[in-house]
Amino acid sequence: MMPPKPTVVGVPKETYPGETLVALTPAHVPMLTKIGLHVLVESGAGEAAGFEDEAFRAMGAQVASDRAELFGSAEILLQVRTLGANFDRGRDDLPLLRADHVLIGLTDPLGRPEAARELAHLGVTVFAMELMPRLARAQSMDVLSSLATIVGYKAVLLAAASLPKLFPMLTTAAGTIPPARVLVIGAGVAGLQAIATARRLGAAVSAYDVRPAVKDQIQSLGAKAVEVLAEVGEAEETGGYAKTLGEAIYRRQRELLTPIVTASDVVVTTAAVPGQRAPMLITADMVARMARGSVIVDVAADRGGNCELTRQNEAVVHQGVTVLGPTNLPSTVPMHASQMYGRNLANFLLYLCKDGFLRVDMADEITRETLVTRGGAVVHPRIGALLRATHHDVAEEGNA
Ligand code: NAD
Repeated sequence: MMPPKPTVVGVPKETYPGETLVALTPAHVPMLTKIGLHVLVESGAGEAAGFEDEAFRAMGAQVASDRAELFGSAEILLQVRTLGANFDRGRDDLPLLRADHVLIGLTDPLGRPEAARELAHLGVTVFAMELMPRLARAQSMDVLSSLATIVGYKAVLLAAASLPKLFPMLTTAAGTIPPARVLVIGAGVAGLQAIATARRLGAAVSAYDVRPAVKDQIQSLGAKAVEVLAEVGEAEETGGYAKTLGEAIYRRQRELLTPIVTASDVVVTTAAVPGQRAPMLITADMVARMARGSVIVDVAADRGGNCELTRQNEAVVHQGVTVLGPTNLPSTVPMHASQMYGRNLANFLLYLCKDGFLRVDMADEITRETLVTRGGAVVHPRIGALLRATHHDVAEEGNA
């Protein structure tokens, strides 16, 4: 009897404008080939991240000269951004997709549920990496943590590069320079990395989060924790994410934060609630009260921003204060971002595969939580509900 044909894992070149990451790096190829998978990489896929075709070949991958060949040969596609997270350019790949394709990558299922519906109509199976549950055993597959780590680090470097002051305290023959005062709002993965980076640069750091549980983590990094408002109550959902709190609470938060923002040289804002607009915590009036030359880096810019003045990918200068709204900061560190992202994806694929073949086991929590479409339907209850709530035609998803 002929042995079954090995499963081909394809790595297409990313097409989202400005995206420099690749979903798998050469170092991850042996992890997959060891369990019997074949890896096929589109020529040039790793180039922007510093990984040449030759490096993939040297580690046992094959290189496809064009995209149609890659999609034609592969059954599993590892991507940084599938359609939902690449809504315009991702459309170019729709004619290449088949019902037996499995897509694994970022899909923005909460922000763009309609993309999941489109892919379901093609019969494609989609796993959304954003939906990885926050379980200890899922940590090695959590791409959001990997990307947020880079965002927090890079946000502080941007602030340091824009600030007309030094970060560390310096005692020199030319006098003593006090440390920069940095406030980090939102102490999740990105915020904690921002605190750590600002501390390494010698700044005096304080941090604020709506979840009281993070106070110890803030302090263990050498930062001062800003007291949480008593009236916020239970601010945490299961899984460690924050809840939406309502405008009245956000107003009180802005009051609490005003004197601290005003006294800061740098504010890095990372506050977010999954699937919701980011809370607006810094008004234009608060910005105007900061000293000239101060800098705000709002990394919640792609979710509406934490600052009223934020504009995506722009530097807004208001009364001498610079407000930066960078999006896709991981793309500015593509080599390590791809290394971390690719490792998460390779771990996930190994987790899903048994004997060299992908098995969808709906009894498994990690599979159930990340699987968005299968067998022609949106099977994730939360995404199905979102589609129904936003008046999309989801008759066929009713069983989800
Ligand atoms: P996130 O990006 O959704 O939010 C960033 C931070 O903003 C969060 O800490 C949140 O509490 C905060 N925030 C939301 N609204 C706010 C407001 N109004 N004011 C101030 N802060 C506000 O979150 P994240 O960084 O992805 O992670 C959240 C939590 O999940 C963290 O506690 C993290 O340790 C935990 N986590 C667990 C795992 C795991 O167990 N596998 C993996 C990653 C993260």
